[in-house]
Amino acid sequence: MARRGWGNDMTRSIPGARITRAEYDEVSLYAPNRAVARIDLSDNTNLWGMPPGAAREVHRAASASITRYPPLYADELKQAIAAYLGGGVTPDMIVTGCGSDDVLDSAIRALGPPGTIVAHLQPSFAMIPRFARVNGLEPRPIMMTSEFDADADAFIAARPRIAYLCSPNNPTGAPLSRTSIERVIRGVPGVTIVDEAYAEFAAENMLDLLATSPRLLISRTMSKAFGLAGLRIGYAVGDPAVVAAVEKSRGPYKVSAIAARAAVAALTEDLDWVRERVALAVENRERLVRALRLGGYAPVASAANFVLVPVSDATGADRALRDRGIAVRPFAGLAGIGDALRVSVGPWDMLEECVSALTALAAPGEAGSA
Ligand code: PMP
Repeated sequence: MARRGWGNDMTRSIPGARITRAEYDEVSLYAPNRAVARIDLSDNTNLWGMPPGAAREVHRAASASITRYPPLYADELKQAIAAYLGGGVTPDMIVTGCGSDDVLDSAIRALGPPGTIVAHLQPSFAMIPRFARVNGLEPRPIMMTSEFDADADAFIAARPRIAYLCSPNNPTGAPLSRTSIERVIRGVPGVTIVDEAYAEFAAENMLDLLATSPRLLISRTMSKAFGLAGLRIGYAVGDPAVVAAVEKSRGPYKVSAIAARAAVAALTEDLDWVRERVALAVENRERLVRALRLGGYAPVASAANFVLVPVSDATGADRALRDRGIAVRPFAGLAGIGDALRVSVGPWDMLEECVSALTALAAPGEAGSA
């Protein structure tokens, strides 16, 4: 007999026994289309590859460091991150994790009592309302302004224990204004998390606010500019007391031995490599925006390594691109925007194919035309 109800429906396959909370059952499994594509512009990773020092350490560490546990809380990695960030950041202000996903999840669990509100920018990173729900908190979407900024008054009015901002924001690519971020930090009763997963591609970041804002936690990742998404390394920076609380909920051994060695090498030896690829990404992002405009689209101005392109039918446009071997991230009915495609920036030959396919689609009568 076929097994019934595995995956998301597992609870319902056990007659008479509720094994999860009702709000937990409402959370859907995060499962975007990850099917392999010839040109994958769907996940905002570094499409130029992996930094050389990190690659060498992956090969070395694979034969040396596997039988024993890695360091409990990745102290050497914290030191390398502190040196990379500069500006007075010390290792006791850093918590690492298995991707910034893990750090954000741990922060929400540590800093928000069950039943309290996580106010988050809408639209924004799709994992945040999920992390809120699975940790017993209540996600409260706060619609972005018409300038793609955070509505500070609405955040303050929600009186959240955790305010989540993302700058540059995913999926719009737009940076939030310093003024609105500062107003949220000052005005909400709890901790403000500023997710800076894409900060390396932006003109500005908020690290300097840490000196005056003990209720600010900034999260970062090595999955984007640093090209290490497969190793799963993220971190957050904040006041030592906040960071200690997050580290307790994160638990030990979250960064594997191989990941830690590669990340330290990337942060100490590969910064020129990373900066060169970031500069290329920024150059190609602007070129992509210009080409899309010429093709009849109105992309959102981006400070990240991706561009959001409003379309009339995201599902149809996604299917048409997939038929040509190109993967992007489709969004249907995005708040304040409508249907859109998020296109990651990479080497120009990859983007060129995507632009030509989209330009062909924009012809009158085609699915997804602008
Ligand atoms: N924050 C944002 C805004 C993201 O876009 C992502 C990845 N898509 C993450 C956090 C998580 O990244 P990771 O877990 O790979 O560090």
